[in-house]
Amino acid sequence: MTDEVWNTERLHGHFAQSLRVSEMYYDSETEHQRLKVFQNGTFGRVLTLDDVVQTTEGDNFIYHEMLTHVPLLAHGAAKHVLIIGGGDGGIAREVLKHASVEHVTMVEIDAGVVDFSRKYLPMLSQGAFDDARLNLVIDDGAAFMKATRDTFDVIIVDSTDPIGPGEVLFTDTFYGHAARALSAEGIIVTQNGVPFMQGDELTNTMRAFQTLFADASCYLATIPTYVGGPMALGWGSHSTKGRDIDLAKLEARFAAADLRPDYYTPAVHKAAFALPGYVQKLFP
Ligand code: SAM
Repeated sequence: MTDEVWNTERLHGHFAQSLRVSEMYYDSETEHQRLKVFQNGTFGRVLTLDDVVQTTEGDNFIYHEMLTHVPLLAHGAAKHVLIIGGGDGGIAREVLKHASVEHVTMVEIDAGVVDFSRKYLPMLSQGAFDDARLNLVIDDGAAFMKATRDTFDVIIVDSTDPIGPGEVLFTDTFYGHAARALSAEGIIVTQNGVPFMQGDELTNTMRAFQTLFADASCYLATIPTYVGGPMALGWGSHSTKGRDIDLAKLEARFAAADLRPDYYTPAVHKAAFALPGYVQKLFP
């Protein structure tokens, strides 16, 4: 009998992903979900919630850079940023690299994810949780968005998939409150699933965004452990200015920001909005 241990993700009904567990660091229920942190020979440390891969040491840079630098460089002068979810700290790490950002509010429902990510995945947050500009709020993002009267230049929804606690972050009600909290040229971006596998998720978000925002679209990035093809990152803004930024202006902002990313480039930013036919067909 082999002593191999595998973590199998069954996010999709007929298509699973398994990662071999070479060492299990943590496996327990938090108040909201089952949290595991383990070592994998290809991706390094892996965080799963309810067995669904959330982020890995090896490929997190792609997702965290694209969900952060695209809206922040498109906006150009974001001061107040809101992160919904993001308990591993990867999004906060990338947001805080932008000198223009004066204040980051991060609303994470599960303190356990933050605590264990700080301990077992410090390479993800890289000190972000100790940055004076970060205000960590442990709360349901949907409740926070409904109650807040603050205005944000960029809102980043780095949530789990629409199952369990993440479900409320894919509703028209949540998006409606987000639209109210967004500044005039503000931009909201969302983790919107892998359209080849979760097309309805993108269709539903785009339907809501088309009614709430002057500009509603998505852009793509391929993250190896978000299986099934490129992931869609939802995009909404009260202004079309952000998405229409020309390459030369983007390159100037990128050079000035001195971000030193491993995936993001201004050309990749612009190209990410070029959507293949099967994704375009998912738009209402
Ligand atoms: N990059 C990952 C992905 O694409 O699936 C998401 C990573 S991050 C760990 C997802 C976070 O969303 C988790 O920490 C989870 O606790 C948080 N979350 C889920 N539902 C939430 C809610 N209603 N309010 C705030 N945070 C929530």
